[in-house]
Amino acid sequence: MKYKYKITTLGCKVNQFESEAIGRFLEESGWGSSVPDEESDVVVINTCTVTQKASMQSRQAIRQAIRSNPNARIVVTGCYAQNGTEELKQIKGIHDIIGSALKHRIPQALLSTIGSQKPESPIVIVPDIGREEIFKQTIVDISGDRTRPFLKIQDGCDAFCTYCIVPYTRGRSRSMPAEDVLRKIELFSSAGYKEVVLTGIHLGCYGRDFPTGKNSLFKLLKMIEDRSSIDRVRFSSIEPHELTTDIVELVASSAKLCNHFHIPLQSGDDTILKKMKRPYTGEQFGKLISFIHQSIPDAAIGVDVLIGFPGETRNEFQNTYQLIQELPVSYLHVFPYSSRKGTPAARYPNPVPQAAIKERCRDMRELGIRKKNLFFQNFIGRNMVILVEEARDKKTNLLKGITANYITVLLDGPDSLKNSLISIQLIEQIDSTTVLGILH
Ligand code: SF4
Repeated sequence: MKYKYKITTLGCKVNQFESEAIGRFLEESGWGSSVPDEESDVVVINTCTVTQKASMQSRQAIRQAIRSNPNARIVVTGCYAQNGTEELKQIKGIHDIIGSALKHRIPQALLSTIGSQKPESPIVIVPDIGREEIFKQTIVDISGDRTRPFLKIQDGCDAFCTYCIVPYTRGRSRSMPAEDVLRKIELFSSAGYKEVVLTGIHLGCYGRDFPTGKNSLFKLLKMIEDRSSIDRVRFSSIEPHELTTDIVELVASSAKLCNHFHIPLQSGDDTILKKMKRPYTGEQFGKLISFIHQSIPDAAIGVDVLIGFPGETRNEFQNTYQLIQELPVSYLHVFPYSSRKGTPAARYPNPVPQAAIKERCRDMRELGIRKKNLFFQNFIGRNMVILVEEARDKKTNLLKGITANYITVLLDGPDSLKNSLISIQLIEQIDSTTVLGILH
């Protein structure tokens, strides 16, 4: 019998990578993924709890799965399973609650339990994630159906920023051995992929956990630069104090490492940064962004901002706004502060009223759009290389591609261009996220 599975994923790139690995293993074991509205034999919900909203959305996804798959085995995993186990036990219809440390074992467990009697009350296996010391590799090397697949090379975080729940749900920083990273990139390359996106929970901590000496992210990127055969390597967000001069200079001289940096600032006010336990100042952040822009003028610089940290005054918000306004930032990701039980900041006084958070987020997002429009305008009329995605743009049915510096380009062209690196000319901005290109 061909069993049917469904995976619902919430949250970050790392969660998405882990879900894709579970799906790929089940497919390679003869299972089929169920189409929407088709009932499944198993539903895995890979949850997120980074904000209250994410926890609420995780509960909604679980209840939805139970309602639309009354005969399925319901397996809940992810950060909410790790940190919200007691709350999840209250939801009737869940069969398994599996902690972050054992997520990679779910595929085999499903193969051995499918068809057996489903437990009346949930089987709860949630080991203390803080005890994890070794990076757990996924059971498959290649997964997902992305043109630009994610590759998780690091897990966990040692930083304990005062507002963040992640270290409590993902444990301490652990890294994939460098030779394994290179081997997996070569597997993607020989499978025809042109770009891989390196991801992790705290990428800047890569290699610091290796017993035999420290191996920084820079050394890994240098190794990839020198020894891998893939065309492009993009890396997801890196903390400002870990984006070192040598990494920026390596990207500046590389044709492989994408000139795209995503850097969490969170606040541009030093008092707030201290309360957040972020180890840098607004001035240091400014210097880093200016250095990147001088070294790589075409680089995309994306910035995360957290609005409404407890006690944040209008002036302190203004300091963040002004800092970003003055810097050559390309786009913003703006997040409203969300109190997370168990984090130090959840006990801090003077919560910022929701109306003020809303207003500040609106102002910051408007600034973000202006920054992005300015960034796009720098490239109109220029020839750029894009990687054409497998999926066409849903709205226009045009081909969709992405430059190394993270510009999404729509163009008219044949399917034969899919998954190829081509040179096109950018002719005009379509909206705040895309630019129109033409073949030349
Ligand atoms: S660096 Fe800070 S914000 Fe990022 S995952 Fe770690 S604790 Fe959370």
